[in-house]
Amino acid sequence: MREEIYDLTIIGGGPVGIFAVYYGGLRGMRMKVIDSLPHLGGQLNALYPEKFIYDVPGFPKVAAADLVEALEEQAMQFHPTVCLEEKVLDLKTNPLGPVELTTDKSLHLARSVIIACGVGAFVPRKLDVQSVQKLEGRGVHYFVHNKKLFRDKKIMIVGGGDSALDWALELIPIASEVTVIHKLDRWQAHEDTVKKLLASSARVMQRSEVLEVHGEKHVEAVTVINNETGEQSAFDIDHLLLNIGFLTNLGPIRNWGLEIQGNAIAVNSQMETNLPHVYAAGDIVTYPGKLKLIATGTGEAAIAANNAKSALDPNAKFFPGHSSQRYESQKPSVTPVQTDAQ
Ligand code: FAD
Repeated sequence: MREEIYDLTIIGGGPVGIFAVYYGGLRGMRMKVIDSLPHLGGQLNALYPEKFIYDVPGFPKVAAADLVEALEEQAMQFHPTVCLEEKVLDLKTNPLGPVELTTDKSLHLARSVIIACGVGAFVPRKLDVQSVQKLEGRGVHYFVHNKKLFRDKKIMIVGGGDSALDWALELIPIASEVTVIHKLDRWQAHEDTVKKLLASSARVMQRSEVLEVHGEKHVEAVTVINNETGEQSAFDIDHLLLNIGFLTNLGPIRNWGLEIQGNAIAVNSQMETNLPHVYAAGDIVTYPGKLKLIATGTGEAAIAANNAKSALDPNAKFFPGHSSQRYESQKPSVTPVQTDAQ
């Protein structure tokens, strides 16, 4: 059976990929999105679903998972095809035919592609400590998917960056005890977050590392060593949350013939890569002045999708028009916001 050719296929269903789906749909293109994770939302759902984001236009404060839900609602009105748990392994452009995307499950054909793969396939950095691996999912965690799990529990958080400290502050009100241990004597988090942590009820230990994790079926205790004095202390712990960063890898993307700078794809101001009909947006791209933020990434998605449209259809303008005016004639399936004036 011949594969169907989509107008625009997005690799990566993080916030940037989802917004690209929306914009492609708005421009009347047949859209597909492919993501290796079992859900859309990228880093927001995988790494920090319950954390609040404060710097998205129009949302003074929004939980990451709620932002993803709103992005999905916006994009799904155009009925894109969504392929989850499918990793794109290869991308090939053809001078006369569609772009070919080979995944670990099948072949996808697209007239144009936006790569929105974020930081690539990301894996949490692990501790080289005996029994950590054995107890993963049994008290050893890399992500917080459900805060309720930590209610009235003793938690040890390892790390000195924003993730570790933000989670400490979020869990203090629900856990019975929070201990933060960090191997350095300086913090790598925002100054304000450090101040809040030091003023909180958390036990804070710098220059300290996990020496051993105890427990057969579940984490029961952790031995910590002070790396300056060599002094060891044991703590009864129910959960160990490791927030010591991620190892990111562009993986197969490096072999697709793209111009790569560092760990990112080089794009021009139209979000074009060096390959024809292949655009990129979001955390995966680099250009002078690049900021890795949701606000800027979603803007790049709009630029990429509108360029893809005008490249495929020479009669189509690059500027999409104002959505406020388009919607008056298109009758969208989303419910308009009611105001007192209406
Ligand atoms: P991602 O969210 O990384 O999504 C990329 C998607 O591509 C992933 O779902 C991945 O599975 C998929 N993918 C990768 N490779 C492949 C492949 N080969 N095949 C198929 N799928 C693939 N930003 C802000 O603006 N404000 C904040 O307050 C904020 N807080 C943050 C807090 C934390 C703890 C972290 C870690 C990040 C935070 N960020 C914040 C950054 C923000 O999350 C990123 O800028 C944003 O997620 C980038 O979106 P993206 O769609 O480009 O990439």
